[in-house]
Amino acid sequence: SKSQPKYKRVLLKLSGEALMGEEDFGIDPKVMDRMALEIGQLVGIGVQVGLVIGGGNLFRGASLHAAGLDRVTGDHMGMLATVMNALAMRDALERSNISTRVMSAIPMSGIVEHYDRRRAIRDLKDGDVVIFSAGTGNPFFTTDSAACLRGIEIDADVVLKATKVDGVYTADPMKDPDAQRYDRLTYDQVLDMKLGVMDLTAICLCRDHNMPVRVFDMNKAGALTNIVVGSDEGTLIEE
Ligand code: UDP
Repeated sequence: SKSQPKYKRVLLKLSGEALMGEEDFGIDPKVMDRMALEIGQLVGIGVQVGLVIGGGNLFRGASLHAAGLDRVTGDHMGMLATVMNALAMRDALERSNISTRVMSAIPMSGIVEHYDRRRAIRDLKDGDVVIFSAGTGNPFFTTDSAACLRGIEIDADVVLKATKVDGVYTADPMKDPDAQRYDRLTYDQVLDMKLGVMDLTAICLCRDHNMPVRVFDMNKAGALTNIVVGSDEGTLIEE
C-alpha cells in the first residue's frame, strides 16, 4: 500500500460495550475478529498501536455500587473485567497473526505482564500491539482516563476514541434528527458545553498535555484506517 500514515503511534480506546456486539453482556467473538482486522490494517501500514479496552460489558464500579456493593470493590471488579477483555482481544489479534502484548496496571503474575512504560515503548517500536489493561490501577477512574494517561505516557500522536456514533453532536443523534456533528472542538468547548464525550479527568489530562483526541465510529468499516492516513472522520478535540 502507498498510503502514508499521518500518525506514527496511536492510542486506541475501545469501550467494553463495543465488544458485546448485539449481545447484552460479555464478548461477541465476531466483533472481536472484525476489530482485530481493522487494527491489523494499521499495523500493516506501519502504525504503532497501543490499546486501552474498557470493562463496561462485564462490570462497572458505579453500577455495582448502585446495586449495593462497596464502590472500591466494584471498581476493582471493573478493572479486572478490562483484563478479561484484553485477553480476549489478544486472542483475536494473535489469531490474525498480529503480535500482541497485554500489560496490566495491577500486577497479575502468570497471566499478563505488569505495566512498564519503557518496555511498552520498546514493544511498540518492535511492531507489537500493546494492550494496557486494568485501567489506571486506581478506583474512581475510568478507562477513558487510562487511555489518555497511557497515550500521553507513550507519547502517542493522538488518542482515538471509538464510539457508537461518528463523533460529537450538538444533541443525541439517536433521539434528535436535527443534531449536528462537530468536525472540531477545543478542550474548553467540551468542558464549557458539558459535552459528555469523556469524563472531566480524561479531558483535563489531554488539555494539560496537549493530547489531541478523535472521536469516531468504529462500526464504520475502514474508519480507523481513514483517520490514520489523514481523513476527517468523526470529531477532533484539540487546543
Ligand atoms: N475502573 C477503575 N479505574 C480505572 C479504570 C476503570 O476503577 O482506572 C473501573 C470502573 O469501575 C469502571 C470499570 O473499571 O466502571 C470499567 O471501565 P469503564 O467503565 O471505563 O469501561 P467502558 O465504559 O469503557 O467499557
